[in-house]
Amino acid sequence: MTKEQLFSSFKSSPQGLTTVQAQENTKFGLNILDQTKKASFAKKFFAQFKNLMIIVLLIAAVVSVIVSLLTHQYEDLFEGCLIFVIVIINAIIGVIQENKAEVALELLSKQTKLTTRVVRDGKVVDIFADQIVCGDIVKLKMGDQVPADVLLIDSNNLQVDESSLTGESISVEKDHNFIPSQNTTLSDKQNCCYKGTNITHGRAIGIVYAVGKQTEIGKISKMLKTKADKTPLEKNMEQIGKMITFVVLAVVFVVFLTQLLFSNSFDFMQSFLTAIALAVAAIPESLPAVVTIIMALGVEKLAKHGAIVKTLASVETLGSCTCLATDKTGTLTQNKMTVKSIYFNKKYLTSNFQSCQLDLLVDAINCCNNAIKSSDGFIGDATEVSLKQFTEKHFTNKLSKATIRLDELPFDSTRKVMSTLNKIGDKTMMFCKGAFDFLISKCTKFWNNDKIIDLTVLEKAMIEGQHESMAKKGQRVIAVAYKETQSLSEDNLVFLGLIGIVDPPKTEVKAAIEQCLQAGLKPIMITGDHPATAFAIAKELGIATSEDQVLTGSDIDSLSEKDLAKTIKNTAVFARVSPAHKTKLVSVLQKKGHVVGFTGDGINDAPSVKIANIGVCMGNGTAVTKSAADLIVSTNDYSTIVLAIKQGRTIFNNIQKTLMFLISTNMVEVLGLFVCAICLPHSSFLLPSQILFINLVTDSLPAFALGLEKPEKDIMQKPPRKTNSSIFSGIGWHILLQGFAQTFVVMIMFVVSLNIWGNQVASTMIFITICLMQLIHAINCKTLRSLIKINPLNNKTFNISFVGLLALILIISLIPIFQTMFNLTALTVVQWLIVCLTSLSIIPIVEVCKYIINHHKK
Ligand code: ATP
Repeated sequence: MTKEQLFSSFKSSPQGLTTVQAQENTKFGLNILDQTKKASFAKKFFAQFKNLMIIVLLIAAVVSVIVSLLTHQYEDLFEGCLIFVIVIINAIIGVIQENKAEVALELLSKQTKLTTRVVRDGKVVDIFADQIVCGDIVKLKMGDQVPADVLLIDSNNLQVDESSLTGESISVEKDHNFIPSQNTTLSDKQNCCYKGTNITHGRAIGIVYAVGKQTEIGKISKMLKTKADKTPLEKNMEQIGKMITFVVLAVVFVVFLTQLLFSNSFDFMQSFLTAIALAVAAIPESLPAVVTIIMALGVEKLAKHGAIVKTLASVETLGSCTCLATDKTGTLTQNKMTVKSIYFNKKYLTSNFQSCQLDLLVDAINCCNNAIKSSDGFIGDATEVSLKQFTEKHFTNKLSKATIRLDELPFDSTRKVMSTLNKIGDKTMMFCKGAFDFLISKCTKFWNNDKIIDLTVLEKAMIEGQHESMAKKGQRVIAVAYKETQSLSEDNLVFLGLIGIVDPPKTEVKAAIEQCLQAGLKPIMITGDHPATAFAIAKELGIATSEDQVLTGSDIDSLSEKDLAKTIKNTAVFARVSPAHKTKLVSVLQKKGHVVGFTGDGINDAPSVKIANIGVCMGNGTAVTKSAADLIVSTNDYSTIVLAIKQGRTIFNNIQKTLMFLISTNMVEVLGLFVCAICLPHSSFLLPSQILFINLVTDSLPAFALGLEKPEKDIMQKPPRKTNSSIFSGIGWHILLQGFAQTFVVMIMFVVSLNIWGNQVASTMIFITICLMQLIHAINCKTLRSLIKINPLNNKTFNISFVGLLALILIISLIPIFQTMFNLTALTVVQWLIVCLTSLSIIPIVEVCKYIINHHKK
């Protein structure tokens, strides 16, 4: 179809659609590739039972109910029903937790939604890409991602990276004037742009002719669809789960056999139920889910601070980040630039600028400038805005001078210069501004006291000295040149002068850098600016202390990869680098074993952002870089990245705390029943319903609440976690000692009470003690250090679940109807005192365990 045919089919025009028409055009389809249906509550609920052990337990419970009904032994009826109730409550808790994680992740996907510039109701507006409909007029520029399939109606130097569609990594040129023939292939259709491809150069306007599934990428998206990958930690958890399952099943088998063989009353059903209940309780089937929930909630928290993590896997990587490489402008500095000094006619001025005849220099910085005036001041590139502001402040009349721009060679961070051809009066002049070292090499003449003279070696050395001194003050120096010519060619230029711009460092960055250094993270500055300027800022921020720590782009080019890897160790600032250098640096750092966090904003930074372990894009970065990034920082703030690293570490620590709690408490039931089955085969230790209740108390709320612990004070004073280290590193011994200690205490109490008060009282005391002790032990798991060193009350969710569960345990133990249900007996005051003291003893006991392990480590 031609554009005219498209305009009429979609009732559109170059002025775009109206809101009403856009609404109507949704009938042609929505711009969504894949709408995954949400599982219903019932589906999620039944999914909780997709576990062999739970199915076996439920069958066993049904059999036990039927048997008790047939044999009229109604006390067993309770047991069977109770198992049902507990399993159902467990499943409901599972669904609630799953929903919470889902909501957190949904919020994230909303925050990372792509926006696009369209013309609606005659106005240019930014809307979410999924709101685009056929007939919309979209405006595309360098760095944008094409939101739908469009037919171009206008274009200027347009180049598009279509690798996501064609696999071809070299950008293709596009032109709205191109007329395709019948057999023009997709990739050769120069007058069309396709959804999901990236604009690498130029700008364009197009009309949307296909959205969502009708687009080229939509047609193949089914083939491209990959299952959401589990994070390494989730996979690790699954393996751990399997390992524990194996051990538990072996123990359960022994317990079952011994109960069957040596128990006083040979009760197959009871022994079988006990064994299965133990398996259900001790197998941490919920472990991967708990990990996902903890990560998802951590991610939600981060989003509130302006850091949007796109995948859960990145949360893990954040915690192990060892090197944080960032650009200077806008990340470390405020990006609020002000012209502070001028070097012109061999004079260095810091004030009273009007006193000097700066006419030509002012014309140059005005003409060679793309900042535009809006109602809120100037908008555009911060460097150019500062130049216009300077002119407005000191040379108002110059700003309105009539000039016509004939041509432009835009600024780019590899060439580091920009040139324009302008008509001023009857003269055609070329103005050029850019990085000093790049521009001076193109100059052969020098503007001196309103005369053009040859740029001799002596003059050049003098200007270089001047530039060096300005740069050393931390100024961003822009060199300016010109020549009278009819066409753009950056050679034989007349050097005009230097402009020193200050861009102060952000106040909060210094503290964040200090935090990085304390946390064993290597902060690196990678900038396109001059080494002297970069070093001055780096020194002020504490990134570098000596000039030896600065390496330039040309140094990188001259070094072999091996030598670069060696030099990189002592380098903190990389200056005058181009985007290609950034990719090289990231990969060399990775080869040196670093887990690299890298920030970038421009489209040229996208490859480095993509290969970095944590690709970071600031909120004002281009859409392409955002889509390549793992972390989007909407606050544009360095300290937010450091905060994200801190959160990554906290999440990992909290997962460890949960793991420590779950395994050490499950050990008590497994070991207790095992020891009892072997040593005291004639006594009854815990009943199946009791085991399941304990599991409900421990595996649910406290485990989950531990995942929400606040970061410990010294979290950013420890070195980063090694990427290949196991989740058990640092907690393995704690788990073992704590598990054995609890079992030991519980068993002593069981034996003593069994001898004094008999089995009924002893098993009641054991049940209440284990419930209380595990709840109290959750407090121990808040830290690997002594509890004295932390504030144990700082986690609201934990406190609420603690009080709630304590009340539940007391209700079950004290109210007669529940006592009957759980086969408990009323305890005397002395017995209660013993239960409480034994439960509380776990705090000092674990304190001793922690002391032994921590002392041994030192
Ligand atoms: P980063 O953001 O990576 O820290 P940067 O913004 O300083 O670095 P570039 O934008 O590549 O890096 O700028 C490099 C040099 O190019 C600057 O030192 C300056 O001299 C010059 N420069 C920057 N912006 C412009 C511009 N708009 N026009 C001409 N020259 C510019």
